[in-house]
Amino acid sequence: MTPLARLLAARIAAQGPMTLSDYMAECLLNPQHGYYATRDPFGAAGDFTTAPEISQMFGELLGLCLAQTWLDQGRPPRIALAELGPGRGTLMADMLRAMRAVPGLSEAAEVHLVEASPALRARQRQTLGDRPVTWHDSIASLPGLPLYLVANEFFDALPIRQFVRRGPGWSERQIGLRGGALAPGLAPALPLAMLAHRLADTGDGDVVELCPALPAIAGTIAARIALHGGAALVIDYGGWRSLGDTFQALKDHCPADPFAAPGEADLTAHVDFEAIARAFRAGGGAATAMTPQGTFLRRLGIEARAARLGQGRTGAALETHLAAHRRLTDPAEMGELFKVIACHPAGCAPPPGLDPA
Ligand code: SAH
Repeated sequence: MTPLARLLAARIAAQGPMTLSDYMAECLLNPQHGYYATRDPFGAAGDFTTAPEISQMFGELLGLCLAQTWLDQGRPPRIALAELGPGRGTLMADMLRAMRAVPGLSEAAEVHLVEASPALRARQRQTLGDRPVTWHDSIASLPGLPLYLVANEFFDALPIRQFVRRGPGWSERQIGLRGGALAPGLAPALPLAMLAHRLADTGDGDVVELCPALPAIAGTIAARIALHGGAALVIDYGGWRSLGDTFQALKDHCPADPFAAPGEADLTAHVDFEAIARAFRAGGGAATAMTPQGTFLRRLGIEARAARLGQGRTGAALETHLAAHRRLTDPAEMGELFKVIACHPAGCAPPPGLDPA
């Protein structure tokens, strides 16, 4: 048993089963034993790789997308350039480098990072060098400025609850104990008002996931963009409207049992883009159509950028570059599984690469 498993087993023995969202929150962010709280999980030596770690092209194109949005919105003289869950800081560093090509933007941008993990804050400080940065525990403390925000693989790390349809009711997945070890189980079925809208499109045995923190986070971002201007780009894996069990653990780049070693594997779930679009609108912003990552990056010009970066390379370096381009855009790799959605002020054009809904 991991130290966190012992701690959670004692808590369940005393207080009864815990929801999947409480379990996920402890596994990822427990201050002593949480997965993100204690390590840098990225790259070949870690458990998984993300788009900005695959190629600099990802951050450059996102940076230019937000830069064009800034120009389209009349170049506000002071803005918050913000990121949720910045990992190693690579995406922000690549965005900032690309943005230097746009006169006035670097000077206008204050960098704000929302990061829960002290270990990763230290890594971000290293990556961003001398650039002044303000860290935040949550989006609540972001300044009242036009907000240009990115969140890549942030929402998939937010804890989810799972419900299994039973006739007119829903049975919540919980974590209990079997023979002293952590084991998933199901609570008795109950009718649930928050899932009333899913009775029409689900049947007995279907699993629906809810992310309790998502509406407030996406809604607050939208409210700030509606009030001050800006745009938010959300990139993640998932689809439109949650259906099915997508809770998964990754360890050493391989799928693992999410209950076997709490705190030592990355836990994620697919992101429900319909829930994000709803929250953007509820917060007073406009939501774009959900667009596959490959389509989005091609519209922003990844082919031209890839050709340019390929020019100076030969042999293994060229192979790595070509493979990275494929990995980001190919439908068989990240191109279709990953989606993009943006929030922008109603009445303004959507950021480049994305269609209005
Ligand atoms: N965006 C990065 C990293 C994605 S991993 C990339 O693309 O490489 C998820 C990131 O979100 C990590 O930095 C993790 O520490 C952070 N994180 C997870 N849950 C969080 C929360 N509730 N609040 C703030 N940051 C969180």
